[in-house]
Amino acid sequence: MNNFNWDSSFCVDFDLINGYSKKAESTKRYLSQMKDMYYDTAAAEKILEREDPLIYEFYELGYPERDGDLAFGTTILYPGQVGGEYFMTKGHFHVKLATAEVYFTLSGEGYMVMEDPEGHTLEMPLEKGQALYVPRSYAHRSVNTGKEPLVMYFTFAADAGHDYGSIETKGYHKMVVERDGKPAIIPNPKW
Ligand code: MN
Repeated sequence: MNNFNWDSSFCVDFDLINGYSKKAESTKRYLSQMKDMYYDTAAAEKILEREDPLIYEFYELGYPERDGDLAFGTTILYPGQVGGEYFMTKGHFHVKLATAEVYFTLSGEGYMVMEDPEGHTLEMPLEKGQALYVPRSYAHRSVNTGKEPLVMYFTFAADAGHDYGSIETKGYHKMVVERDGKPAIIPNPKW
């Protein structure tokens, strides 16, 4: 990874504008918080016997969650696997379902795995220096298929909200695993 300081990059002084926080808050997700989201739960348990790896973290400002504003931040998704399945974010629908989102890959490589409530799926590569548009109504999860952190900038409607629950029970229709040393997108056997 380069020497960029992700935290200080967001020290925009919103205090001057609206009274909102001027320093991005980091939220961390460890394997213990999402072990049941991986297909091979036994492999997850085995890793947890010796360590609890940080899967990803994201930085966000305390933006106003209201119509017309934009939320934005940075996600850092670390490299690794659980039973051959690459490290991934939990992923979510937006509560306001028909709201899109833009991701821009700052470094690393991977996939954005998406699906709508009707089960239509969409997998798009995340490549350094490229923007990716998550269409409205699609749940979205990023997957790190590389050997270095996958770092993404994101922005979406600030009042969109996050709905993690509906996708947590069965997971996504598709999963990204390593096959013969390369990423492969396969149907999730739980579906
Ligand atoms: Mn989103």
